Amino acid sequence: MTRTNFYSGGGLDRAELLRRDPAWITLAIRTGRLRLVPVWRNHNLISNPEAPRPLFLDSLDQMERLLASGHEPFLLGHREEVTFAALDLSQYDNPSDVTVIEALGEANFEDLRRVGPLLDRWEGSLLAYARGLCWWHQRHGYCGVCGSPTRSENAGHQRRCTNEGCGALHFPRTDPAVIMLVHDGERCVLGRQQAWPSGMHSTLAGFVEPGESLEEAVAREVFEEVGLAVSDVVYHSSQPWPFPSSIMLGFFARTNEHTLKIDPNELESAAWFTRDELLNAPEDDTLRLPRRDSIARHLVTSWLNDDF
Ligand SMILES: [Zn+2]
Repeated sequence: MTRTNFYSGGGLDRAELLRRDPAWITLAIRTGRLRLVPVWRNHNLISNPEAPRPLFLDSLDQMERLLASGHEPFLLGHREEVTFAALDLSQYDNPSDVTVIEALGEANFEDLRRVGPLLDRWEGSLLAYARGLCWWHQRHGYCGVCGSPTRSENAGHQRRCTNEGCGALHFPRTDPAVIMLVHDGERCVLGRQQAWPSGMHSTLAGFVEPGESLEEAVAREVFEEVGLAVSDVVYHSSQPWPFPSSIMLGFFARTNEHTLKIDPNELESAAWFTRDELLNAPEDDTLRLPRRDSIARHLVTSWLNDDF
């Protein structure tokens, strides 16, 4: 069984072959089926925060002006014969002043995590992809090998060092993080970090380190954060989390130990919870479950339904 999470499963054809055609943007404009997905400083353009929908740019005039003024869209892919490309507008201090975007109206650049769960699945997936790709370009303007400027190639899917003596290629990166629901069959461990909303508890998580398997990362993170030894590490599903650049790899892990030794640098608190406690979570300052668009929530609900 394949389980999918929010920000994935958008049905986008990433059009890998088209990336190599330098004329892709001209061809896409000519078809009249190109939509630009604007991103401004990690924010996506949303039509109306009360009933959010993504706002795409589709005017030929706008697109031609954008290209003429040196903007470089990054190809995202095709969906239902429409071609989508991300457009980074971060260089403008105030995006509503951008003359290329006409009549913003009610639309605003919003943090996708504020409105994500209210969007259609494919819209959330597309906006997350656009945001993640733009963030990578912003952070890789210089070569990590020799420090020279890099330039975008392959429709925004690689950057090449402009120093001919170096020429290093850099590819969009995704940082793997494991996220795991630890349980003993009857109860599970949830922790909380100080910065989270009051009462929110979630599954444990941490980044995978070099030279480490995913199963080893799960065991290490659980031991570091709450002092429990785990076994039976079982994969559940994954979730792209380009906030800014991760993919969350979800697992269940079993333990026979019960005494929590909490690392205060990682967690404010952690505790054992029964199924009844989670099923009856009041969703207030005493106990809130993880946000609805997160794989953490999916792990909790799967455990409550014995679906693992
Ligand atoms: Zn270089």
